[in-house]
Amino acid sequence: MERLAPLAIMPVIKHSEIVLDDTSAAEKPRLNQLYNLIPMLLRESGISYRSIRVFRDRIEVDDRKPARLSAEPELFICPHCGFVTPYEEEYWNHVKIHYIGF
Ligand SMILES: [Zn+2]
Repeated sequence: MERLAPLAIMPVIKHSEIVLDDTSAAEKPRLNQLYNLIPMLLRESGISYRSIRVFRDRIEVDDRKPARLSAEPELFICPHCGFVTPYEEEYWNHVKIHYIGF
């Protein structure tokens, strides 16, 4: 947030919004000036984002995290008979029955 200091703008985080207080700024920052600053600010704050877009007098940052991978347990499926198990060890024990000599 140090980058805003020379502009005398105080960023305030309110709920899901970052409000930039420019009441003490010598001159109001232009939107495109902020638009260029925001990716740097977010990176410095360790906030990942998907997209940044300008909508009238506001800049909207989509900071949703990438969708989490399915929480469902991994399943092991026998390619020979379709036997299904969530346990890798059980799977390997099963697969053996399809091979002569085990
Ligand atoms: Zn099988």
